[in-house]
Amino acid sequence: MRRPKITDLRATTVTMPLEAPLRHANGAHWGRFVRTVVEVETDTGLVGLGEMGGGGESAEAAFRGLRSYLIGHDPFELEAMRYKICNPTASLYNNRTQMHAALEFACLDICGHTLGVPVHDLLGGKVRETVPFASYLFFRYPDAHGRHEVRTAEQLVAHAADLKQRYGFTVHKLKGGVFPPDYELEAFRALGTAFPKDKLRYDPNAALGVEEAIRFGHAIEDLNNDYYEDPTWGLNGMRRLRKSVRIPLATNTVVVNFEQLAANILDPAVDVILLDTTFWGGIRACVKAAGVCETFQLGIAVHSSGELGIQLASMLHLGAVVPNLAFAADAHYHHLADDIIVGGKLPYVNGAIAVPTGPGLGVTLDRGKLAQYAELYKELGGYAYDRDPGRPGWFPLLPNTDWADPAAPPPA
Ligand code: MG
Repeated sequence: MRRPKITDLRATTVTMPLEAPLRHANGAHWGRFVRTVVEVETDTGLVGLGEMGGGGESAEAAFRGLRSYLIGHDPFELEAMRYKICNPTASLYNNRTQMHAALEFACLDICGHTLGVPVHDLLGGKVRETVPFASYLFFRYPDAHGRHEVRTAEQLVAHAADLKQRYGFTVHKLKGGVFPPDYELEAFRALGTAFPKDKLRYDPNAALGVEEAIRFGHAIEDLNNDYYEDPTWGLNGMRRLRKSVRIPLATNTVVVNFEQLAANILDPAVDVILLDTTFWGGIRACVKAAGVCETFQLGIAVHSSGELGIQLASMLHLGAVVPNLAFAADAHYHHLADDIIVGGKLPYVNGAIAVPTGPGLGVTLDRGKLAQYAELYKELGGYAYDRDPGRPGWFPLLPNTDWADPAAPPPA
């Protein structure tokens, strides 16, 4: 085997349409995701694939700026790359965690192709063939044709039933924090009534005050909850909540690095750590964190930050190798209209997606689709994740006290 050396890297911003705009506590995804596809080239003729959320000229330039760090680097030297790019003290002046994650995916892809093995074999080997996923339910604005709105409890249950029928989900996660808590409580409880055998999760992106979160928690304690995800902000808020509510608490916001994980072990605030391959800086960081959680008997699940097929592959390889994965993973994936990988979107079977078995990440970039969706980004530009197109000028306080009106008309 000849050891590869990195010869170049390239970042391309793409826009992927969603079935309908997704609403959340801070604003909305305006009917599309913006993502950056990263390609790392080697002197052995391989191209490794990475992906990061967001994009545009500044993100592409930031990746170009890392050429001088990476050209000549051996992709097998992953710890050295971590310190080159993400040294914790240098990170006070730059925040490259998510860029590093994209580069780590690409380097693992190269290592796998070099050795002819899938990424999960580089991470300890898979302990499962498929990774189960939850239906990720959002309140949605209607699309441009007035379709796919999710605003009422009836629409939410119908949407969940449709996803369950199409994909086989047996776990349902509701992204809340949009409408007044009592309105969302009714909608969430309607899911419990409609799917009594399925598991549930409620995640209002930390928008509730502690007392409101306690009240809401008591009102859902009788349901079949997996966990109660980031109902309120901060380790201290979650700690207060945990004393009063008898549902495991989960987070993808206040434990996203090892310092916070240590703090949560020394003085527990949450029970289930949602591991995000981008927020944590790569698949390997998540595997390490899963090991700490295994030792301290904390739960883990796989978090979704709005992935296309490359990042989804990173989540599948993570889900494949962590023995202590007892919860279904999250994915926005079923909201996507298409994907940029050869063969189109990876299929769900019985609520799960098969772990890729080909070399590297096991997915191949469809260059026609990459060009098509790069063009769409140029046409539509970015969007502000933390702005609601239906509520111009509004921004949330934390805790939020100014909820969206369920009777308000959708944005024009
Ligand atoms: Mg969350």
